[in-house]
Amino acid sequence: MFIEPIYRSQRSGWIEVICGSMFSGKTEELIRRLKRARIANQKVEIFKPAKDTRYDERRVISHDENALLSKPIVRSADLLQVAQETEVIGIDEAQFFDDDLTRHCQDLALAGKRIIVAGLDMDFRGQPFGPMPALMAVSEYITKVHAICPHCGNLATHSYRLAESEETFLLGETDHYEPRCRYCFSLGAILHFP
Ligand code: ZN
Repeated sequence: MFIEPIYRSQRSGWIEVICGSMFSGKTEELIRRLKRARIANQKVEIFKPAKDTRYDERRVISHDENALLSKPIVRSADLLQVAQETEVIGIDEAQFFDDDLTRHCQDLALAGKRIIVAGLDMDFRGQPFGPMPALMAVSEYITKVHAICPHCGNLATHSYRLAESEETFLLGETDHYEPRCRYCFSLGAILHFP
């Protein structure tokens, strides 16, 4: 479990990354940390990419309905509109942002903010996804969360696409994906449920 560093003794902020496959609990972990920051009376702001409209436009919502209000933004540069007094910044679905997200997160961390970034580390092809690998490289803390592979019960690290499409991602269509371990992911369609 992630334990928060002592916030006020640091001269700068820092970056935490929460990554993993679909159904791994990334957003739940993000929400858990943000709620703890609120309990500590820290000012929190939450951002997500505007194109993620699968649920309520204004909320970071996880599959267990444990929700917090968020601001949809189009480009990572929109993060710079964050309020001066904000101490903790949560970013959900970070894989969908442009590559400048890494630079903006670093600038905000240096300016004293605690940045908590959640996102898919791999796309449905098993390739590193958007700015996530760069964010992981420059972050202070990385937490990789896992789903469970429904075929073998091992830890799942990959998001397998059940639907046939060549789009990079079918956004939010969770019915079209299942988590898989490395081995079951490699078997592909052989393991399709009837
Ligand atoms: Zn498996």
